[in-house]
Amino acid sequence: MTLQSASLSPSLSATELVSDPFLAQEVVQWHMRFGRRNMPWQNTLNPYHVWLSEVMLQQTQVATVHGYFVRFVARFPDVAALAQASLDDVFCLWSGLGYYSRAKNLHQCAQYIVQGYDGVFPQTARQLQTLPGIGRSTASAIASLCFGERVAILDGNVRRVLARFIGFDADLAQAANERRLWDLATHQLPAEGEDLPDRMAHYTQGMMDLGATVCHARRPDCGACPLAQRCVACKLGQPDHYPVKTRKIKRGQQSIWLLYAATHDGYVWLRQRPAPGVWAGLYCLAWFDDMHALQSALVEHGSPSLHIEPAFRHVLTHKDLDLHPVRVQLARDVKVTADGAWFEPERWQGLGMPAPIKKMLNV
Ligand code: SF4
Repeated sequence: MTLQSASLSPSLSATELVSDPFLAQEVVQWHMRFGRRNMPWQNTLNPYHVWLSEVMLQQTQVATVHGYFVRFVARFPDVAALAQASLDDVFCLWSGLGYYSRAKNLHQCAQYIVQGYDGVFPQTARQLQTLPGIGRSTASAIASLCFGERVAILDGNVRRVLARFIGFDADLAQAANERRLWDLATHQLPAEGEDLPDRMAHYTQGMMDLGATVCHARRPDCGACPLAQRCVACKLGQPDHYPVKTRKIKRGQQSIWLLYAATHDGYVWLRQRPAPGVWAGLYCLAWFDDMHALQSALVEHGSPSLHIEPAFRHVLTHKDLDLHPVRVQLARDVKVTADGAWFEPERWQGLGMPAPIKKMLNV
């Protein structure tokens, strides 16, 4: 069975599907001839520019983003300049763009890249996803456009093109169906081989451009689409029926800095999480909303040297937690936070702890 032979039933496993080179080949060729070239964030291998544009475009129209992008890059030409800026300055430039958490996340992420990666963007989607505020699609956009990695993006435009092309009629309000569409998006990627990085850049940008300029949410211009010949939604005469989403899922994302404070003889500082909130009542490492708050808490203890460990994502039902462990060694007479205590390893087993904290402590 090929992808285009029928509308896909939710029960069909992605692994049963045959990868079909048609979509990737058509999109790559179409983008080479007709793709947009006039945006300041296009035709670049600069991950800072791609990242910035992806974040700005998440909730905002292209026409609006254009001016903001130009002004932002003129003021903060690279990630180091953004990291050094005050949050007030960043907010000031963001003023009018809305969704200010994006600006805060950008600022935090820039500082994280400077502190944790010497100012150099990680090159894989997997690593990029661990950075504050960078989700799977943005990470894949950066990795595929700038570093040629063979990873799929699935922003709103691309989701629409793909769902229509393959006739994906399962409800994307359900996480399992969303995951399945991700699998299918990966099946459609350009094949491995020579010039893959170049083809990946054309494919990724081409899918975005198709969704933005041809496969509109309403009244798609199928006559101008390179996929029309094999598009299920077009053949059925029902492009507007795809993608299907019965209710909007409000998933959140939160970045948390976890201070893994330990003594030379193995005690670790833990505190019980307050209620209500994430992990209420469980024992957890000291928790901060950003690196600055974490550092401030240690000033009175002589600002000891910190070791930043790789961040990782922990998925809850309602939000993604991006956890940023920071290790420090302290003396046992130090009181790390207002509440909490030093616990020796023998006591960890008896404490209720969230899974990622247990993993960090090897409990
Ligand atoms: S043929 Fe029409 S519905 Fe199908 S992907 Fe192209 S524009 Fe969208």
